[in-house]
Amino acid sequence: MSDPRIDPRRHDLKRMIDSLRVKPGSEVRLPHDFDPRFKPDSVSKEDAAALLQTGVDVLAEYQDRLYAQDTYSVLLVLQAMDAAGKDGNIKHVMSGVNPQGVNVHSFKSPSTEELDHEFLWRCAQRVPAKGMIGIFNRSYYEEVLVVRVHPKYLGAQHLPPDATKEPHIWRRRFREINDWERYLVDNGTKVVKIFLNVSRDEQARRFLSRIDDPAKNWKFSPADMAERGFWDDYQHAYSELLSHTSTDHAPWYVVPADRKWFARLATVAILTDTLMDLDPQYPTVDPAVKATMAELKKQLEAELPAEED
Ligand code: ATP
Ligand code: MG
Repeated sequence: MSDPRIDPRRHDLKRMIDSLRVKPGSEVRLPHDFDPRFKPDSVSKEDAAALLQTGVDVLAEYQDRLYAQDTYSVLLVLQAMDAAGKDGNIKHVMSGVNPQGVNVHSFKSPSTEELDHEFLWRCAQRVPAKGMIGIFNRSYYEEVLVVRVHPKYLGAQHLPPDATKEPHIWRRRFREINDWERYLVDNGTKVVKIFLNVSRDEQARRFLSRIDDPAKNWKFSPADMAERGFWDDYQHAYSELLSHTSTDHAPWYVVPADRKWFARLATVAILTDTLMDLDPQYPTVDPAVKATMAELKKQLEAELPAEED
């Protein structure tokens, strides 16, 4: 049965993104379970630009309502291997949204001050305010990714000795992350998480184009090449976090990222679906205020000179 309160455009979005959601409690094994080149048969590159524009327009409409209602916020967590397209994704998906309603924060290696606090501290400060869409370009999930792949980073985190034992530390961090996200959702911040799933071959192609094209040289760092050497460890760490932290309240989506156009389309679809779920409404004005407004309207109209043809 269709519910008249539900936006009719929602059906198409749901169809597109359902297969990308990690079912809570399922065990994910990368690279087998998600194909970085997947796209639904119904979507072609020729239609992509028009579809993306529609998605961007719908997103802008819902973001306007979110901002006006000032009760909820949306946090989009973006995680990926290098060159998977996080930056381009953010640029295209948010292109139609009022810049006043969006915050993007990129999380890099933690500072000395950040390392002197527990691991969620720096992220908690960047959680979007009511009415805002916040994007985390990398996030607290680095704590179960790069830190898991290179456990030596734990040494700089000033942790009590018992807190660093493997594998308990990762299980504990998954639980703490799930609990924190629950807290955010309960308090009005909807959390949605996207892993841009690029293949090893496609990463190599993108690194090569960064090396070959002088305009892209700045995007390449030899350190990215070193991390590529740990590809299998990252796939394992991603499999683990997807298996343990995709929940009903804060689901993970694995977005195929070998085709940039599809990754952008899927991202806008996921974000829009999340906002449709929240269904933010423009605030209604109290009848007494409405009556005052009608009075003031008359006053203003009386002040204006008669309009000329
Ligand atoms: P781009 O390369 O596209 O500019 P990026 O997100 O890769 O974007 P970089 O400055 O290249 O940005 O890399 C940031 C680095 O910081 C990543 O290698 C990431 O793993 C690392 N990092 C992020 N959070 C943590 C953390 N909590 N502990 C250790 N390293 C972290
Ligand atoms: Mg990088």
